Amino acid sequence: MSMDGNRYDAIVVGARCAGSPTAMLLARRGHKVLVVDRATFPSDTLSTHIVHPPGVASLRRWGLLERLTATGCPPIHTYAFDFGPFVISGAPGTDDTPVAYGPRRTVLDKLLVDAAAEAGAEVREGFTVEEVLIEDGRVTGVRGHGRRGGTVTERARVVVGADGRHSLVARAVRPEQYHEKPQLLAGYYTYWSGLPMEGRFETWIRPDRGFAAWPTNDDLTVVICGWPFAEFEANKDDIEGNYLKMLELAPEFADRVRAATREARYVGTAVLNYFRRPYGPGWALVGDAGYNKDFITGHGIHDAFRDAELCATAMDEALSGASAFETAMGRYQATRDQRVLPMYELTTQLAMLEPPPLELRHLLAAANGNQEAMDGFARVIAGVTSPAEYFSEESVGRILATR
Ligand SMILES: Cc1cc2nc3c(=O)[nH]c(=O)nc-3n(C[C@H](O)[C@H](O)[C@H](O)COP(=O)(O)OP(=O)(O)OC[C@H]3O[C@@H](n4cnc5c(N)ncnc54)[C@H](O)[C@@H]3O)c2cc1C
Repeated sequence: MSMDGNRYDAIVVGARCAGSPTAMLLARRGHKVLVVDRATFPSDTLSTHIVHPPGVASLRRWGLLERLTATGCPPIHTYAFDFGPFVISGAPGTDDTPVAYGPRRTVLDKLLVDAAAEAGAEVREGFTVEEVLIEDGRVTGVRGHGRRGGTVTERARVVVGADGRHSLVARAVRPEQYHEKPQLLAGYYTYWSGLPMEGRFETWIRPDRGFAAWPTNDDLTVVICGWPFAEFEANKDDIEGNYLKMLELAPEFADRVRAATREARYVGTAVLNYFRRPYGPGWALVGDAGYNKDFITGHGIHDAFRDAELCATAMDEALSGASAFETAMGRYQATRDQRVLPMYELTTQLAMLEPPPLELRHLLAAANGNQEAMDGFARVIAGVTSPAEYFSEESVGRILATR
């Protein structure tokens, strides 16, 4: 029993990239945590899964990286961006964390759930939250059911919505939304065997089209294709035809895919772009529940990891009485927003699949062949370097001067 009579200090709804790390970090700090998910693990979810070096660094900090590498998931040391006339190819990481990984969500999410349980969080899989309890304007718990048995009520000092883009917790607490943008891109992906990537994450940028490929577990390669959201409905009738037609825009890659074998069905979607205020009386939001941007830059997983760390730190301060809840959680929101806003702007611009603005084309053409500048661009897309820094006057001047 926690101090004020609630059964738990925190109930976390959702146990994937945001929820399990939040539960794990809170439990490691001695808090009594329940984490629930209507899914059971291992299980897949609608998402590709490039984990850029900052996400890999989180896993290492948490002591989980060796478990990931033990699954045989191949490291990715090079990012290549094929703009048609030229290819920018660079290293995405830092000396500490030089590589990315592309683990299947079946692998990654299971590893995270297990780590939460090992840290002492109570994990309830196959448990669906039906209702968020609100009393006198304050969230006090959840009501839900397991796969067998009736409805149960659980109470906590804080309920954390880590329940993804369609968050029930967010719907219940109706947080302020800001910087909203509509769906911009529709993306579809599948898995191929016999399509070796040699440690490379490759992307192709073409008018109104973009696609990417990288290696994952079990000697498979994921290939995702995106077209403008305006074509979402029309292209639904022939996903495969549109997907394969797009690959022909890079004939050498299309040949490689023709020689490979498709091992899964095509799946995909389009997502909204938004920030939500991530806290209020008795509640918090982490991961996609609190902030989402298009998947074209593949930042959702490491963003969720970062949120989990920021949110768990703030909640620990609040739960232990070191700071007022409002103060600590206000810091979480401010830090999150400040870190992600420049990448949010770049991502939503790229997701429109419009030709890059003239200045950007000039810059990338100048970066072509300049290894330091190409590494710099790879690190921007990887979330290692802020776009604000790479596109600063000084940095642009340096790249243009060495042309
Ligand atoms: C097509 C696509 C491709 C993507 N590619 C990448 C990529 O390459 N790299 C990357 O970093 N990101 C990618 N993303 C984004 C990434 O998937 C998300 O940012 C990430 O999954 C967010 O994790 P999360 O834990 O917040 O939410 P989720 O992974 O959505 O997990 C939410 C969990 O909450 C549970 N839940 C929801 N409601 C309830 C309820 N009422 N009761 C109990 N449980 C509930 C769900 O079962 C689910 O397990 C992609 C997204 C899409 C759609």
